[in-house]
Amino acid sequence: MMSDLRDVEILCDVHLVPMRLTSDYVHVQPTDIFPSDLRKCMDISCTRRFSELQGYVDVIENRIDGVNRKLKYCPEGHRGMAIVRVVNGVPEWKCLHRGCECSK
Ligand SMILES: [Zn+2]
Ligand SMILES: [Zn+2]
Repeated sequence: MMSDLRDVEILCDVHLVPMRLTSDYVHVQPTDIFPSDLRKCMDISCTRRFSELQGYVDVIENRIDGVNRKLKYCPEGHRGMAIVRVVNGVPEWKCLHRGCECSK
């Protein structure tokens, strides 16, 4: 079951500013799942993108570059935790699944 991410603010893991949903076209490897919930950083020069399936990745020339991928699983096994806020300068990673203990 996918979570409803549209009302969750997700921050760029580099700039710690909100990311926006984007419909930018991205080539994916045949083995990858197309990230329909792709978000991009508000900093237009930033290459970071986030989706629940891919985690944080760089997108360079419309292709996902997974070299610096950051994909965290919550202890309950849900895929794609994200930084949702910064507390005292420390990014807080939360599970995106509503109702999960790790989403609070
Ligand atoms: Zn950024
Ligand atoms: Zn979870």
